[in-house]
Amino acid sequence: MSAIRTEEAHDLTRIERIGAHSHIRGLGLDDALEARNQSQGMVGQKDARTAAGVVVQMIKEGKIAGRCVMLAGGPGTGKTAIAMAMAQALGAETPFTMIAGSEIFSLEMSKTEALTQAFRRSIGVRIKEETEMIEGEVVEINIERPSSNPAQSKGRTGQLVLKTSDMESTFDLGQKMIESLQKEKIQAGDVITIDKASGRISKLGRSFVRSKDFDAMSQNTRFVQTPEGELSKRKEVVHTVTLHEIDVINSRQQGFLALFAGDTGEIKGEVRDQIDQRVAEWREEGKGEIVPGVLFIDEVHMLDIECFSWLNRALESPLAPVVIVASNRGISRIRGTHYKSPHGIPIDLLDRMVIITTTQYSEVELRKIIAIRCEEEDVEMEDRSMDLLTALGMKSSLRYVLQLITTASLVTQKRGGSTVTVEDIKRVYTLFMDLRRSVEFLQNHEKEFLF
Ligand code: ATP
Repeated sequence: MSAIRTEEAHDLTRIERIGAHSHIRGLGLDDALEARNQSQGMVGQKDARTAAGVVVQMIKEGKIAGRCVMLAGGPGTGKTAIAMAMAQALGAETPFTMIAGSEIFSLEMSKTEALTQAFRRSIGVRIKEETEMIEGEVVEINIERPSSNPAQSKGRTGQLVLKTSDMESTFDLGQKMIESLQKEKIQAGDVITIDKASGRISKLGRSFVRSKDFDAMSQNTRFVQTPEGELSKRKEVVHTVTLHEIDVINSRQQGFLALFAGDTGEIKGEVRDQIDQRVAEWREEGKGEIVPGVLFIDEVHMLDIECFSWLNRALESPLAPVVIVASNRGISRIRGTHYKSPHGIPIDLLDRMVIITTTQYSEVELRKIIAIRCEEEDVEMEDRSMDLLTALGMKSSLRYVLQLITTASLVTQKRGGSTVTVEDIKRVYTLFMDLRRSVEFLQNHEKEFLF
């Protein structure tokens, strides 16, 4: 029961984190990859967005993998927003995994297992499969029943006469093919395809619609004259899965149902070794290719020294994704040690990162972000209320005022109004404290708290 609760809590934080960025649709760059002032829901932070655009371009061109990019800047300066925009710019084909540093610590699996899973979720494998098909018109189907009991279907054999191009060929039917024929209710005169590898039979139509169906199918197929003289075609099927998905499906303990439950537990090292080997073979045979994706680790300072050592080593692996980390910390202690370092990250790991910095917003930018969020949340606001929120944002934080939009609009609704007024904002400002006032309150009332 407790495990189920953790899962739910997990999902909620994820939804909350994504919801706050629902207005972001991309990095908002022009054709020359320079950041526009305001575009795709993004405002300001032009240098950081342009730099992020360069990284996206390199990932798309397959020029980088196993590199680490750091987004560094104060709280609420748009680090997570930029990472979300990068995910959008990369498109759905590129795996993008998002975790917070604190998610690594759980009772269900070790920290390094959690990191390994996050890494392997961020690597895709594009698998190409070629299937060879035979197409023709059914002339005759003969199914022999071995037993006197007609209901008994096991062990049946038969023959299928198929007209392919100008000649007739006879195929021996196995059990699978017979089932397939019956499922599709195939009879003489139907045009069918037989998948040579699996023996699966599909109906294309009756012979009089043949030419139409034939054209539709030939668009993505190639014709080959096989030695037997049959008219067969090759069809290429491409699908992308992540290494983690392959791990889970091949892990006996888990089975593929675990993918849907999201509850994968630990996966054995041997399983992963075998899969890496298999993937290497696919690559050699030209059957598969690696799609390096992105792993975004928010609040990276929450990782400890063991996680940092693991990261340092894992980035060397040929199957490493691009790792993007974000931190709002200055010089702070590296978790698990007594040492201090910039962003609480060991110097040797910092040394291999490229760092993108985000800066504080100007008043104009702040107002624009507030306006975008009002629109996103369908909240009507007076100009004066917007001025007040902007002024509060400059004094406290962007995050705080964005929270006030939602709460103030609830106050407006409660009093039966439709536009958020200055009074509504004042009301929520007294109800909900920002960090600075909360600290002041703590300092003034220190004696009343437990210590
Ligand atoms: P923290 O260090 O506290 O995690 P952060 O730098 O990751 O903060 P975000 O969570 O990205 O900050 O920003 C806070 C809110 O402001 C989010 O809702 C985000 O979508 C929005 N936001 C931040 N920067 C921008 C921007 N440049 N354009 C549009 N929206 C932004």
